[in-house]
Amino acid sequence: MTHKHRNAIVIGAGFAGIAVATSLAQKGYDVTVIEKNTQIGGRARQFHCQGFTFDMGPSWYWMPDIFENYFRTFGKKPSDYYQLKRLDPSYSVVFGADDRWRIPANLQELGVLLEQYEAGAAEQLEKFMAQAKYKYEVGINDFVNKPSRSITEFLDIRLLKGALNLDLLTSLSKHVRKFFKHPQIIKLLEFPVLFLGATPENTPALYSLMNYADLKLGTWYPMGGMFEIIRGMETLAREMGVKFHTGETVSQIEVKNGIATGVNTDKDYYPADIVVGGADYHHVEQHLLPTQYRSYSPQYWQKRTMAPSALLFYIGLDKKLEGIDHHMLFFDEDFKLHASEIYTNPQWPSKPLFYMSAASVTDPAIAPEGKENLVLLVPLAPGLEDSEEKRSHYYEIIMNRLEKLIGQSVKDHVIVKKSYAIKDFEQDYNAFKGNAYGLANTLKQTAILKPSCKSKKVANLYYVGQLTIPGPGVPPSLISGLVVGNEIEKDFAEL
Ligand SMILES: Cc1cc2nc3c(=O)[nH]c(=O)nc-3n(C[C@H](O)[C@H](O)[C@H](O)COP(=O)(O)OP(=O)(O)OC[C@H]3O[C@@H](n4cnc5c(N)ncnc54)[C@H](O)[C@@H]3O)c2cc1C
Repeated sequence: MTHKHRNAIVIGAGFAGIAVATSLAQKGYDVTVIEKNTQIGGRARQFHCQGFTFDMGPSWYWMPDIFENYFRTFGKKPSDYYQLKRLDPSYSVVFGADDRWRIPANLQELGVLLEQYEAGAAEQLEKFMAQAKYKYEVGINDFVNKPSRSITEFLDIRLLKGALNLDLLTSLSKHVRKFFKHPQIIKLLEFPVLFLGATPENTPALYSLMNYADLKLGTWYPMGGMFEIIRGMETLAREMGVKFHTGETVSQIEVKNGIATGVNTDKDYYPADIVVGGADYHHVEQHLLPTQYRSYSPQYWQKRTMAPSALLFYIGLDKKLEGIDHHMLFFDEDFKLHASEIYTNPQWPSKPLFYMSAASVTDPAIAPEGKENLVLLVPLAPGLEDSEEKRSHYYEIIMNRLEKLIGQSVKDHVIVKKSYAIKDFEQDYNAFKGNAYGLANTLKQTAILKPSCKSKKVANLYYVGQLTIPGPGVPPSLISGLVVGNEIEKDFAEL
């Protein structure tokens, strides 16, 4: 059979699903993506209300090199599809009403800022960043792009030597403390691993590569919003021949003698030579596959450390706020207490940390003139009971804190308000325990210790996205799609 006649069905049109679909189309497969929601983009969907445009999920554009590499794979550049702007300050961290650090895009300027709080911090930052750069280069080039199907992939002398320098066995928390003592500097350097869905104590120090991504490679913004990336990827995918079926839910993967033969949806049946699960891994294998073809048990899934869920508020204001930044982290409460209420002792947080994205500071097009577009986010333990009462209670808490910390009224100016939390993640994305960011990148859930990107029991079934390699986040989801596209080609090219 030639590729021209081989059908690939991809379940789910998030970043990873679109990426694997485009990769397979480039290799000559006939690809159809089936997406349950009416809009593609998955967790990165967008909605419009009264002239406001809200990105529903990701708001931080980090690791621009990964996006460049993605589009380069298909002979394109991000600028063929969207216009990027580097933010300066990259973001700000609010430690208290009169204590806000605006993180400059320039690393030397950051050194000067840190030096004011800890003598010698500028020099320590240089040393810390030299290691972070090494980890980024080796980590991204040699480790992250591996399919992690077998330990033998890592038995290369250069990689083994590299591994010793990658601090895989110490935690990020300990690593940061070897360089710095000031609690606020430590918070600043520990914050990026929250994107990986685990605590700094539980994350290998390898991931100080995230500090390189943050402080050196910078925070960017695609004008029009993060959904512009999805639009660009969709245009490219369609150019390559990918077909999208939206508003259609896959209800079952049909398997005969260990081979997936097609998928049933709520509307139709699609025969398939290859099936790729781009929806949450847990959903695909526990709900769409016959029991005997599942690689993992329900107990296995119960034992996984999921990345957090989130409570979000999409807010439109009838005025502009003064002196705010595009990205603001409100770290004025105890980081450890909130983390323990996510991971160790799951419950609604007693004193939540929260994050605010005010993209209209950079991009006037996403709010009506003279108005502000805010997204507020509180990380939550997955699987908590989610109710309107809880959402309202936390809305009051964070609105009051926000008003105090930025010293101006906000609540009375709200003209658009929509909440989104655990139940919505479950309902909209079939997310296990309502997770927002997939599976946490803890040491025990890294590389070959993640749910495998290839089914152990169905020869032509693969998985992509934030619950498999390499992990949560937009750049990893793009990598996931490209790596799995190549694996499929390797496995099937000869047949
Ligand atoms: C609130 C929030 C903020 C975030 N912030 C950032 C950030 O700032 N920067 C960053 O890099 N990352 C961020 N992330 C993470 C990032 O958005 C995700 O890692 C990434 O979008 C995951 O893509 P995916 O393709 O793996 O999954 P998804 O986007 O979930 O795509 C899976 C798709 O499968 C579909 N599906 C499910 N079941 C079925 C079915 N039975 N049939 C058909 N289709 C189905 C779903 O509807 C969905 O569209 C954030 C995530 C959230 C939720």
